[in-house]
Amino acid sequence: MSEQVRFSLPESEIPTSWVNIAADLPEPPPAPLNPGTGEPLGPDDLAAIFPMGLIEQEVSAEPEIEIPDEVREAYKLWRPTPLIRALRLERALDTPARIFYKYEGGSPAGSHKPNTAIPQAFYNKREGVRKLSTETGAGQWGSALALACQLFELECEVFMVGVSYDQKPYRRAMIETWGGTVHRSPSDLTDAGRSQAEHSSGSLGIAISEAVEVAASNEDTNYSLGSVLNHVCLHQTVIGSEAIRQLELAGAYPDVVVGCVGGGSNFAGIAYPFLREKIRRGLQTRFIAAEPSACPTLTRGAYRYDFGDTVGLTPLLPMYTLGHDFVPPPVHSGGLRYHGDAPGLCALVHNGMIEARAIKQTSAFDAAVRFARSEGIIPAPEPSHALRVVIDEAEQAKQAGEERTILVNLCGHGHFDMAAYQAYLAGELEDLEFPESEMEAALERLPEAPALS
Ligand SMILES: *Cc1c(COP(=O)(O)O)cnc(C)c1O
Repeated sequence: MSEQVRFSLPESEIPTSWVNIAADLPEPPPAPLNPGTGEPLGPDDLAAIFPMGLIEQEVSAEPEIEIPDEVREAYKLWRPTPLIRALRLERALDTPARIFYKYEGGSPAGSHKPNTAIPQAFYNKREGVRKLSTETGAGQWGSALALACQLFELECEVFMVGVSYDQKPYRRAMIETWGGTVHRSPSDLTDAGRSQAEHSSGSLGIAISEAVEVAASNEDTNYSLGSVLNHVCLHQTVIGSEAIRQLELAGAYPDVVVGCVGGGSNFAGIAYPFLREKIRRGLQTRFIAAEPSACPTLTRGAYRYDFGDTVGLTPLLPMYTLGHDFVPPPVHSGGLRYHGDAPGLCALVHNGMIEARAIKQTSAFDAAVRFARSEGIIPAPEPSHALRVVIDEAEQAKQAGEERTILVNLCGHGHFDMAAYQAYLAGELEDLEFPESEMEAALERLPEAPALS
C-alpha cells in the first residue's frame, strides 16, 4: 500500500527551456543537402515555407533554447504530464524490474503532438503568417495542429492519408471541430496529388508533397511538419526534462529508456534529455527505439540521402530510408508508416548510441492488451510497439534476477483505434509482410548524393 504510483509536478515546473542535443554530440550529424545544388542546406532554402524562429532552432548549436512565455501558458492546458509507476503491470509480470511510463495521452489531442504544434503555431503567428498547411497520417498530427492554430488564430489546412481519411472519420471531425480544413490525399488540389492518383490509399510521403506544394506556392502560407525535423524533436524534449524531475521524486533513474519511432519525435523527446546526462556524466543508460516490422526503417533501411516526401520536393535528408516512393503496408499504427526517420536520430542509431528493434503488430497489440488490463489506459497502437519492448525487458530482468528500471513514453491513447483492437480481439489482426523487394526497387530510385559514412 505504501508504494507511490503517480509522480506529478506543479505548473511552475513546466520546463523553461528545450534541450538541444546537437550541442552535446561528439560529432555533428551530416547536413541536409539542397537537391538542386548538392550544397549543404542554408537558412534561405527553408525560408519559403518555415518562419525564421523555427529555422534558427533547426540549425542551432546552443545547448538550451528558452521556451517563450506564450508557449508555456498554452502548455499549462495539460502539462506537466504525469509520470506513473506501472506497479500493477510489474506484479502481473512478476518481475523485479521497476517500470515507469510518462503519459502524454492526456493532452487535448490525445498524444505528444501538441508539444510541438503549439510552438510552431506561435512562431508562425509572430512572423505574420496567416495559414499553415500540413499532412497527417492517422490524424494525430492534423488534430494537434488544428488545435494549436485555433489557439493562435491561424488557418489550418490538412492533407490526410487516404486510408486514414476513410477509416478515421472521428479524427477528421476533431480537426474540423478545432476549425481546420481536411482533404483526402492524394487530392486533385495539387500537382503532387494528381501525379499520385493511382496510389489511392495514399501515404505520408504523398501527403507531405501536397502540403509542401501548397505552402511553397502561397505567400501567406507556411508548412508545418509534425516529426523528423530538429526543431520538432527539440520541442518534444519537455517530456524527458519533466521525467528527469519526476524520477528524482521517485528516487529512481532509468537503466533503459524506450519509445516508438515513426519519424522520431516522441522518442527524441523522452530520450534526448537522458542521453545528454549519459554523455555528460558517463552513465550506462540504454536507449531502445521500437518500430513496426512491416515498416522497419531503422533496422532494415539503407543509411543514405533521400527525400522526405514521395514526389521529391524536400531537401535531401541523411537518414535510414526504405526509399521515398516506397509505400508501406497499411499497418494499424498509421503514425509509424513513414519511409524515413529524423536525421539526428538516425545518426545516433548509426553510431550505436541508440538501439533499434522491429516489432510485429500482433505482438504489439498483445503487449497493449496486457498493459490495458493491468494499468487501465488503452494505448495507441504506436506506443504499443514500445510496450512490447518494455515487457520483453522486464521478463529478461526477471530471468537475470536483476532490478532494472525501465522508462517508456506512452505517447498517446488508443480511443480512436478501437477498430484495430476489435480485429485483434477477434483474432483477425494479421502480421503484414515487409515487401523487401519493393524496398530494394525503391532504393534503386534514390536521388544521386554523396555516400554517408
Ligand atoms: C505521430 C505519432 C507517432 C509517431 O511519430 P513520432 O514522431 O515518431 O513520435 C507515434 N505515436 C503517436 C501516438 C503519434 O501520434
